[in-house]
Amino acid sequence: MVQEFDTIILGAGATGLFTARELLNKGEGSVLILEKNSFVGGMASSFQHKDFIIDFGPHKLFSLLPGVMEEFKSINGENNLIVKKVNSLFFLGKKFQFPIKPVEMLKNISLRTAYNGAMIPLSLAKSLVRYNLLGKKDETFEDYLVKGFGRRAYKILFEGYARKVWAHPDELSKDIAEIRIPVPSIGSLLKSTNKEGQVKINASEFYYPKYGMKQFMEKLAESIESKGGEISLNQKVVLVEKKGGMFSIRTDEGAYICKHLVSTIPLESFVDVYSRSPEEIKEVSTRLRYNDLSLIYLFFDKPQVITDNWIFFPEIEYSFNRLSEQKSFSPHTVPTEKTVLCVEITNPEINKLPKEQIVSRAMEDLAKAGVVADAKEASEKLFLRFNKVYPVYDKHYRKTVHRLIHFLDTEGIVSLGRNGMFNYNNIDHCLDMAWTYSTWRLAKGTIEDWQRAREKFAEYRIVD
Ligand SMILES: Cc1cc2nc3c(=O)[nH]c(=O)nc-3n(C[C@H](O)[C@H](O)[C@H](O)COP(=O)(O)OP(=O)(O)OC[C@H]3O[C@@H](n4cnc5c(N)ncnc54)[C@H](O)[C@@H]3O)c2cc1C
Repeated sequence: MVQEFDTIILGAGATGLFTARELLNKGEGSVLILEKNSFVGGMASSFQHKDFIIDFGPHKLFSLLPGVMEEFKSINGENNLIVKKVNSLFFLGKKFQFPIKPVEMLKNISLRTAYNGAMIPLSLAKSLVRYNLLGKKDETFEDYLVKGFGRRAYKILFEGYARKVWAHPDELSKDIAEIRIPVPSIGSLLKSTNKEGQVKINASEFYYPKYGMKQFMEKLAESIESKGGEISLNQKVVLVEKKGGMFSIRTDEGAYICKHLVSTIPLESFVDVYSRSPEEIKEVSTRLRYNDLSLIYLFFDKPQVITDNWIFFPEIEYSFNRLSEQKSFSPHTVPTEKTVLCVEITNPEINKLPKEQIVSRAMEDLAKAGVVADAKEASEKLFLRFNKVYPVYDKHYRKTVHRLIHFLDTEGIVSLGRNGMFNYNNIDHCLDMAWTYSTWRLAKGTIEDWQRAREKFAEYRIVD
């Protein structure tokens, strides 16, 4: 039997769940979410391994957007712990607290650091002349950061990181620098040690659910179900059709129809399952590029291995880009006498290798960095792989996304979320997308109103 709903949402990640909750809060009729996984939360969730609860990569709940932290609290109440953040950058062989404190830098300076450090003001001066006096335009990822930091600091802090998480800087749009590196210059980075500047780039404390991100997402799901919404798991969407103004959706388990369709699955996956996608649109959708994520979990029979929530490794010589310790997010997720470290690898060159080689390269690099005492003592190693996790903003991505989203506009389909809009975003932005969409729906706005309302999605900034 085909079941009918006012709205069907594809995907029960943060965006799908927030959107369902908002539509139900606003009385916008019946809602069904179809999700291919056996759990809710998408990439912002956790899994149980023996007596550990572990995130799929560390997740904090933080936002500078008005009303978001209050909403996070209203969803998970006292189960949101307030975590005082400690994080560092490891470069030139040393660990520096983030935001960088000039005094700490001077105290820890080595000969190698001192040489490189002394060259930074010189190369910054060159950049100031080139971009500010001679009027060179900052049109690319590289230009944007060389203008603000000088070439020397750019090479140390950003070039390798870009190659690890996205692509070679030559191929990247300036947008990714603006979103991911919200301090545009050395001046603003140093100012961030002042109270006034700090808020712009630094989440000095954040919420984290007592029992992992999965707890937050399950609370969200409970609140949807308590308002009459339905969430159907293990339902991979395989075909979407449009007939007589209604959408019909087929999964590997059943068939459904609805008036309003919201997709939060990756944009190109939707184009692929939608029966009315022309060949030209299918071809355009193949131009979207993503990086995969390998996670190596190292288990230790001791209470703690690093003192930070996470440590970034911007240099290309290290295969991983971040280390984090689950316990420092919530002690309730890990047994008292044990701990687990998460090693994140997005570098496409490393991720091409077989699993065993990725793990052994990461272990060598951990030993080289020396920030984890006796990493080789790990009592167990667990490897997980996720495909298409990091949208790559290459120089053509705007045009590609614009073409695809405008095609969906003409079909009356709304695509939202990180991969649904190919928008490099965080959980707070998923909530803001849900608010924006449901407000537009309630106001019965036109498609032009929706296009205007969503312009702000391009302005989202990620704050560490
Ligand atoms: C390592 C890492 C760390 C991060 N850290 C933070 C952080 O600290 N704080 C923060 O706020 N954000 C963080 N983020 C970003 C955050 O994870 C995302 O913004 C958010 O999870 C995106 O949610 P979404 O619902 O848009 O997408 P997704 O989570 O991808 O949800 C889409 C859902 O659609 C489902 N789906 C796909 N195809 C189909 C199909 N054919 N049929 C049915 N269902 C389908 C998927 O299974 C998934 O559940 C991090 C991301 C990563 C990768």
